[in-house]
Amino acid sequence: MVNNKIWLSSPHMGGEEIEYIKEAFDSNWVAPLGPNVTGFEQDLEAYLHNKRYVAALSSGTAAIHLGLILLGVVAGDEVICQSMTFSASANPIAYLGATPVFVDSEPDTWNMSPEFLEEAIIARLEYGKKPKAIIPVHLYGMPAKMQQILAVANKYEIPVLEDAAEALGSSINGEFCGTFGDIACLSFNGNKIITTSGGGALVAKANEMAEKAVFLATQARDQAPHYEHTHIGYNYRMSNICAGIGRGQMKVLDKHIELRRSNLEYYRQALSHIKEISFLDEPEGYKSNRWLSCAVIDPSSGISQETIRFELNARNIESRPLWKPMHLQPIFRNAPYYGENTCEELFNKGICLPSGSNLANDDLSKITRVITEIYR
Ligand SMILES: *Cc1c(COP(=O)(O)O)cnc(C)c1O
Repeated sequence: MVNNKIWLSSPHMGGEEIEYIKEAFDSNWVAPLGPNVTGFEQDLEAYLHNKRYVAALSSGTAAIHLGLILLGVVAGDEVICQSMTFSASANPIAYLGATPVFVDSEPDTWNMSPEFLEEAIIARLEYGKKPKAIIPVHLYGMPAKMQQILAVANKYEIPVLEDAAEALGSSINGEFCGTFGDIACLSFNGNKIITTSGGGALVAKANEMAEKAVFLATQARDQAPHYEHTHIGYNYRMSNICAGIGRGQMKVLDKHIELRRSNLEYYRQALSHIKEISFLDEPEGYKSNRWLSCAVIDPSSGISQETIRFELNARNIESRPLWKPMHLQPIFRNAPYYGENTCEELFNKGICLPSGSNLANDDLSKITRVITEIYR
């Protein structure tokens, strides 16, 4: 197997996951509820220093959808969202018939610019539309400038829904991503820092919010012997099997973060002689889980991030451009945008390198050798 593909970010089991799954089978808890679901929620709450309440759901996208509902977003509303992100940050705004208002990134974290956020709010207020929520994203695990974003949000009294899908374990001055906003989402999709094969969680400041999320996620059944409904419900709860994987994964989360962080350090050192390649530093007090190792390529030598991507692909190594900003996506072409071209420029120059916590040293040296050869 000389030519095994090197993936961008693949699942990495710790070993204990299968015990929790076996327990679920043995006790016949093969359902979207059960002891693993409760246990996984408690594990996540403990990990977040018991500062938040967690509802385990079927995906991170479902968490954003329910989060927006809990914040009262309805058809015709506007919701501010970071432009540079995965479409799942913004799609739930459209599910609700609301309009996304996109905001540019700033260069220190690649995440929502607090300045352009305020500019957007002021402009929308002038149109007579007060945004219903703000969705900053901790892209690739790097925390957004939450202190500054929260200051703006508090000034205008707009709730914050943090998209922490990529940032479990990242922190600012020891405070975890997911514990800054009123609500946050986590994702446990197959490519994320830990996986449940597919899954997510809603993280809430208020216990009533987490309880209401569970209620809505389980078809919104009111208390009655028959099926009585006063709310539109969803089928968004996490299954006990998936939660069992999650319980096992929680035991290796910190190890995975250290491995992902050491990938980035490996790239940084092995490619330090190539001045056209740069990596994002952590601002003081910030800790990124380095979900993906991303580089920005200065194209002045004639080599672009696409040259590198093609060359890696030819050697069976998966890499990917950075997220294409939402305001440049055909689906959101009519949405308002506030900012300049920071996120567009990042998209035009950036590349995500293989970043799995299960990468071998041989993989990393192969990747950096291919890149070094391109510049030779
Ligand atoms: C993965 C991801 C999501 C969606 O999570 P799913 O569990 O895949 O639904 C949302 N936002 C961002 C930034 C993501 O990377």
